[in-house]
Amino acid sequence: TERSMALAEQAKRVAAEFDFGLDAVNKAVREFIREMNEGLQKEGTELSQIPTYVTAVPNGTEKGLYMAVDLGGTNFRVCSIQLHGNTTFSLTQSKVAIPRELMVAQTAKELFSFLAKQIETFLKTHHGDHYAGHIKRRETGGITKDEEIFNLGFTFSFPVNQVGINKGLLMRWTKGFDIADAVGKDVCALLQEEIDALHLPVRVAALVNDTVGTLMARSYTSPGKTGTLLGAIFGTGTNGAYVEKLDKVTKLTQKKDAGEYDKSTGEMIVNTEWGSFDNSLRTLPNTPYDIELDEKSVNPGIQMFEKRVSGMFLGEILRLALVGLLKDPTFPLFRDENSAQNDVHSTTQIHDTSPIWKQWGIDTSFLSICAGDNSPGHRMIRQTLDKDYAISAVSAEDAEAVRAIAAAIGRRAARLSAVAIAAIVLETGRLESSSKGTATTEKEGIEPPRGEVEPTEDDVIDIGVDGSLVEFYPNFEEHIREALREIEGIGDQGEKRVRIGIAKDGSGVGAALIALVAGRVG
Ligand code: ADP
Repeated sequence: TERSMALAEQAKRVAAEFDFGLDAVNKAVREFIREMNEGLQKEGTELSQIPTYVTAVPNGTEKGLYMAVDLGGTNFRVCSIQLHGNTTFSLTQSKVAIPRELMVAQTAKELFSFLAKQIETFLKTHHGDHYAGHIKRRETGGITKDEEIFNLGFTFSFPVNQVGINKGLLMRWTKGFDIADAVGKDVCALLQEEIDALHLPVRVAALVNDTVGTLMARSYTSPGKTGTLLGAIFGTGTNGAYVEKLDKVTKLTQKKDAGEYDKSTGEMIVNTEWGSFDNSLRTLPNTPYDIELDEKSVNPGIQMFEKRVSGMFLGEILRLALVGLLKDPTFPLFRDENSAQNDVHSTTQIHDTSPIWKQWGIDTSFLSICAGDNSPGHRMIRQTLDKDYAISAVSAEDAEAVRAIAAAIGRRAARLSAVAIAAIVLETGRLESSSKGTATTEKEGIEPPRGEVEPTEDDVIDIGVDGSLVEFYPNFEEHIREALREIEGIGDQGEKRVRIGIAKDGSGVGAALIALVAGRVG
């Protein structure tokens, strides 16, 4: 019908607003590399490029028993990790909700003594023998041997100014926490004090950022000749940490009061904080929906990359695009008076209770449903709109229009993700270290041979990823790869060398590995 033609036409137009083409992608990669270098040299730049004091990635042969704790939001996780030294590990964990009153306690001590008590309970429950031995020796005046003390990695997902591998000053609380007394203090010391008050055989060996944990976990479980290059998260938020040459991290190496770190590897893991890439919008795409989302956010003008890429925001971009269309009375979406459902002709209805009218009303998992339902009738999409979004009797044409717009938003997010990945691959020069010497010919301006040789294990550039978006959005990796092939300096050959794999348990095994690396130095 004329209506459905017009609808398809309009949906295509809106979807096209989310195009992020070859030239735009390449321009953004160049800007990303520029911001990476700037961030390595000075403070207060768009990419924070935080030195993590972690100077090596594991190769899968690491062994031992470690502990890890994770304070990131609503829960506190405690775990112990046995590294078997053959790329495998076993993990034991417990999880407790943080009582609301402790999130806003008067003193830091109230929260951290609660955390220490959870560690004590965990030790008694899961490492009773070890713990009892330690208590017995204490009572008889003996000292617990160094090798009997658990090294612990502390994943703390709030902004900290890291000044050593196990030292970081809390800059501010987020996510509903508010304990003024803790701000400016070293969170590792706060935890260690309470652990010591309970006489636990535990040493807070490392302060861990979750992206660094992802990188370490992947490097242990998927060892290659050079180890994993990059750990990246595409979940509620997005961020990445990568292995940088130490002598490029001049804002650390030339700092007079920098904490101790191991210089022997010549490398350091850098936490990019890429959610704030290009906050000044030199190269990021910017549709009317992006502008509206930002204006109505709690932090306008910041985390601009994250607002186009991560799970927290993609559903909202779709919602704004759809609501924008629905405000136009001439626009045919959801105005089908004769849509057939179960052979009963009925009128599409957006019920007053529909979350589509409320900020954050559409979850990013809906984009995954759209991308996964290419069936002609789009049954899954229509069902979900009915069940979860109180929009009933949606026609197949309307569902197709929603799908087209959602797919464009998801594809753009993946192509932006490729910008970050490509920039890091190019800036670190990993493509130049090839057993086939591809890059030398490239440097001389000669096209590398187009021979279709599969990359050898040595040529693999390994990337560990985590987060619901990359894990569950259909073909997210394929969209990333498509963009990688379009990027100057990567191309078909480079894209083939990039291996992307899910890294699970970053805040468990990853934190344990950082505690291990830290223990070697400290
Ligand atoms: P976190 O990053 O908080 O550790 P996740 O990796 O699970 O946790 O990411 C949660 C985010 O992922 C939420 O913003 C949610 O909307 C989004 N999400 C959840 N399920 C899916 C899905 N199936 N497809 C795409 N995004 C999803």
